[in-house]
Amino acid sequence: MMPPLRADRPDKRLMIPRQPFGRFFLPGPTEVSAEVLDAQRRPMIGHRSAAMEVLFASLQLGLRAVFRTKRPVYSATSSATGLMEAALRNGARRRVLALVNGGFGERFYRIALACGFEADALRVAPGQVHTPELLVDALRRRDYDAVTVVHSETSTGALNPVAALAQTARNASDVMLLVDSVSGIGGVAVESDAWQLDFVFTGSQKALALPPGLSFGVAHERLLARARSARGRGIYFDLVDFEAFVGRHQPPHTPAVSLYYALDVQLERIAAETVEARWARHTAMAERCWAWVDEMRERGFPLGILAPIGYRSPTVTCLTLPAGRSAPAVVAALAARGWTIGAGYGDLAATTIRIGHMGDHTVAELEALLDALGEVVGRGKR
Ligand SMILES: *Cc1c(COP(=O)(O)O)cnc(C)c1O
Repeated sequence: MMPPLRADRPDKRLMIPRQPFGRFFLPGPTEVSAEVLDAQRRPMIGHRSAAMEVLFASLQLGLRAVFRTKRPVYSATSSATGLMEAALRNGARRRVLALVNGGFGERFYRIALACGFEADALRVAPGQVHTPELLVDALRRRDYDAVTVVHSETSTGALNPVAALAQTARNASDVMLLVDSVSGIGGVAVESDAWQLDFVFTGSQKALALPPGLSFGVAHERLLARARSARGRGIYFDLVDFEAFVGRHQPPHTPAVSLYYALDVQLERIAAETVEARWARHTAMAERCWAWVDEMRERGFPLGILAPIGYRSPTVTCLTLPAGRSAPAVVAALAARGWTIGAGYGDLAATTIRIGHMGDHTVAELEALLDALGEVVGRGKR
């Protein structure tokens, strides 16, 4: 039964914190700048109007720059999970290999099963990554027609070597690599064309620092050819349809018009910064975060980083706390000081915290967060 609605609920508006920009470090949704939020106040236009066509054409240019592709970039009015499902429904035929190293890899695996595919999960420990050798070996043992991989595993802060995995998939015959780069694209180098990714996608609310509700993906010609014969691809996430409509500079269905206004402004801001500078800013934030953990250890506070050196994501760090320290208590203590970070994800909830140093944040803002975090974890027993 539904729980009864409480009459004494607190005022919703009072529940939304009013903080200056730079204090919200969730690994998604990420903080959205005022300029981008304000763009959503523009009046509605029809989705078959000339104004929409002009807007759509201009969004294409910005999105292709972000994805480093000459192919069309599809945009769906859904969160990124929608494109996880689209990837499988359009890109898999029968048997899927899911590379799982955390919560989102696990989700990809479960979606494959839920869509009716045979699927095997190739699991490595949380924080670890999948090497090309692991993939070669798995593809040798059994026939798969699609492989799912999470580029930046937001639950653990691990970065899978997608370029190398794509090379491995290319060397196998007729295997589609379906890449979830939801917390990657916009914050870490992704070369959709140069790496020949079959399908790669992201969501609006991670490193692109937009409100949630949009997702974007690029399909290689190879994947599109596969999609044309995929019988279970449905309607709403039919990539063949997306391809046809992008060519006309129109959305297939009524899109979230206001979110497209926000995207329009954010793509201009990204172009002004340049995609490469954005990647570099994320690397600088991540390196500062890792160095800070080292400094804390030298001072006697045994913090750790779940992902090993060399396989850490530039957009999110998953910190391990010493035994006896409660991760939810650390998150709450920071919240009391006006800072938002992520709790650990799934099985890691009690023992880890996550900092989403992604989107529009700067090293200076991160530094201030780390000062506050240092005070919180530095208090009490060592
Ligand atoms: C956030 C996230 C998703 C899913 O995103 P939704 O937008 O909530 O559907 C999938 N994969 C990764 C790696 C993510 O970080």
